[in-house]
Amino acid sequence: MISVLGIFVADISFSGPKIPSIGETILGTKYNIGPGGKGCNQAIAIARLGGEVNFFSKIGKDEYGKLALNTLIKNKIKTDHIIQDKNLQTGVAGIFVDKNSGKNAINVITGAPSTLTLNEIKDNLNTIKKSKIFLTQLEIPKDVTLHCLKIAKENNVLTILNPAPASDLPEEFFNYIDYFTPNETEAEFFTGLKITNENEAKEASKKIINMGVKKVIITLGDKGLFYSDGKDDIYLKATSVKAIDTTGAGDAFNGGLAFGLLKEKTIKETLVLANTVAGVSTTKIGAGDSMPFINELKKFN
Ligand code: ADP
Repeated sequence: MISVLGIFVADISFSGPKIPSIGETILGTKYNIGPGGKGCNQAIAIARLGGEVNFFSKIGKDEYGKLALNTLIKNKIKTDHIIQDKNLQTGVAGIFVDKNSGKNAINVITGAPSTLTLNEIKDNLNTIKKSKIFLTQLEIPKDVTLHCLKIAKENNVLTILNPAPASDLPEEFFNYIDYFTPNETEAEFFTGLKITNENEAKEASKKIINMGVKKVIITLGDKGLFYSDGKDDIYLKATSVKAIDTTGAGDAFNGGLAFGLLKEKTIKETLVLANTVAGVSTTKIGAGDSMPFINELKKFN
């Protein structure tokens, strides 16, 4: 079983010929409202691959709160640990997508989960303790995230921190992380090193391992990924696909990673799986909705 702590937001995305610059108005081509939030997307990715997953989050009792619950139930994600507060808003994200490259720019209002406290989750910690894997990001208040990572590690649960969006972390965080999965921009944030290729990713990964995490995977967008455990390195090229919307690619990757580890695949097999799951997600519009089902991966085997 995998536990995911994170947020749900309703993604409101606008697709058009470019991402508008400051002060500019453009005529777009399509809009879509669908499930998003890194934690929720990652939980969907795991569930669609066939993994048992619990989602820990907080939402409001509003229209988007209904979208959250419907999405989780439809995707067979366990909702026992979802806190619903009628006085708070469910999160939303405004997303601009450049339809030519699939690239995006995002503004997230996390809403209800920004008020999540240690006290609210204390009765749920048993589920994390009993899990094989604990996966989280940086969209939930940091004291809650740190506490859950610590509890997980103290109970021999494998931990994955997707450090997104990047922000300063107390040093203690790094002691409780088995897999640290920044994208290029986040890895630059944590190391101060510019990353545009495999060699630069290798240098950055050395610096990250020295911070205390056990394994690091830097995702490199359409250039693939770089993995290191400090001894062995693996570089994989991105899956060859026609990307139309890369929103949620990193989430698909983290979901695939958690699922591969759940199934005790080798690290190489796990990375190949995660890379494929992420690649396929870029061929579909949306974030949560773009997470592939396991049978969609067959043609890449
Ligand atoms: P994030 O979505 O967090 O910014 P990345 O952009 O690094 O993360 O993408 C995560 C993973 O998604 C990559 O490591 C790769 O496996 C896959 N991916 C992203 N963009 C593409 C693309 N254009 N073609 C194929 N795979 C992609």
